[in-house]
Amino acid sequence: MNKVEELILKRGEIKSGNILKVDSFLNHQIEIDALEAIADAFAEYFSQKDINKILTIESSGIAIAVALAQRLKLPVVFAKKAESLNLDAERYSTRVYSFTKQKEYNVQVSKKYLCADDKVLIVDDFLALGSAAKGLIELCNQAGALVEGIGIVIEKAFQNGGKELRVQGYDVLSLAMIERFNEDGSVSFCSR
Ligand code: 5GP
Repeated sequence: MNKVEELILKRGEIKSGNILKVDSFLNHQIEIDALEAIADAFAEYFSQKDINKILTIESSGIAIAVALAQRLKLPVVFAKKAESLNLDAERYSTRVYSFTKQKEYNVQVSKKYLCADDKVLIVDDFLALGSAAKGLIELCNQAGALVEGIGIVIEKAFQNGGKELRVQGYDVLSLAMIERFNEDGSVSFCSR
């Protein structure tokens, strides 16, 4: 059992709507030991790939992406969700449905920070239905950038986003793959 799986068992809380709350170590308070273990695992798996940029989505993906970027010595770009006068007019944009907020929103990246030469590693905290990851892939497609891999901390495998991405040929590494939430409040992981 790896560190992420251990933390989920010890400190994850299952909420209604198939939501796993991991605020105590990842989504609100961030524990450095957990972050380092996550970044180490991604760095080990993806270090042989030809990647020049890490792309994530605000806000929970940023810390993960930065910890990984320190190891791989790469820049991080995070797609913005919030509208802002500061965002360049020249930008790539797509719509993403938020599983936790149950609404659609724009995600955007300035054309300055994503381009046709880029070989991108996408990272995020959760993979559920795959809308966030597909949105980031769409931004890369608009820029003509190549998606070399996708690193996810927690995949809820029963929601099929990861399955679809793998069928499409993407190299998806999920550090914890949840098979199901049980009625007694426990979590079962997929066997590897
Ligand atoms: P997807 O777009 O794959 O359906 O969902 C992934 C996004 O929704 C992630 O960026 C994450 O912020 C959020 N998310 C989805 N499921 C969960 C969950 O069970 N717990 C938490 N904390 N976030 C989730």
